[in-house]
Amino acid sequence: MSAAQAHFDKSVAWDYLVKQVAFGPRKPGTEAHVACRDYLLSKVKESCDNARLQPFEHTWSTNNQTIKMWNVIGEQNWKDAKVRVALFAHWDTRPTADQEATAENRAKPIPGANDGASGVAVLLELMRAMKAAPAGVGIQYVLVDGEDLGPGLDEMFLGASAYAKALPSPKPDYGILLDMIGDSDLRVPVDPLSFSRAPSLIRALYQHAATIGLASTFPNEYGPEIEDDHVPLNEAGLPTIDLIDFTYKPWHTLADTPDKCSAESLGKVGKLLESWLHKTPPFQIASTR
Ligand SMILES: [Zn+2]
Repeated sequence: MSAAQAHFDKSVAWDYLVKQVAFGPRKPGTEAHVACRDYLLSKVKESCDNARLQPFEHTWSTNNQTIKMWNVIGEQNWKDAKVRVALFAHWDTRPTADQEATAENRAKPIPGANDGASGVAVLLELMRAMKAAPAGVGIQYVLVDGEDLGPGLDEMFLGASAYAKALPSPKPDYGILLDMIGDSDLRVPVDPLSFSRAPSLIRALYQHAATIGLASTFPNEYGPEIEDDHVPLNEAGLPTIDLIDFTYKPWHTLADTPDKCSAESLGKVGKLLESWLHKTPPFQIASTR
């Protein structure tokens, strides 16, 4: 394996985004959802130890049926590390395009190129790169299901909640969540909720972004406060920040397709995380809070 191959490859990440969208909407309770689950587990097995599914269920208010969902989890260097980082992204997609103009379209599921596939695409490629060039940190990759089931907040973040209820042992020191980071016009300001829960972590990560030339993509300024998978994780005592670009016009519409996203954006997020995880000494949130 050459050093060049060890680095995050944005074109491979892009292929992972396109591949997920090609399954069709990853709406829980559908065949496409199960097929994508199997694909994700096979990719996690290629790069991680202890690749597994975390199953959970939810009785959905929309149809009163019990929906089966699964987090897809894998680890690298988890047991022996001094610092453990959990990386999250949701792989399910919104069952209803609630931001569409017509009732007919609002009833359809979204393609979820950015809202779903983008964060997972980065994590799949990151795990390959980190396996080829391991860092001193332990990494757990958690592809969460049921983030966007809805329609209300009480039926969202379901996979993150299931994970938060049974935190692994040993426990992660902190978490980083990726959501909607594939926008071709990517700009990820600081989420105020993340700042309030893990100020030293988010400060250090944004400083790091600036030192590697990504200050314009990760500007050190507040964006809107975001409710996302990091809410139940922080409530469970796992300090977790959310990297999200919420200014995305096709959000929760049928137009959330790959042509609105770019390999360049996936590459920037991948470069940020890869270089962060290789930093020495690795960031320890407990000692710097
Ligand atoms: Zn969404």
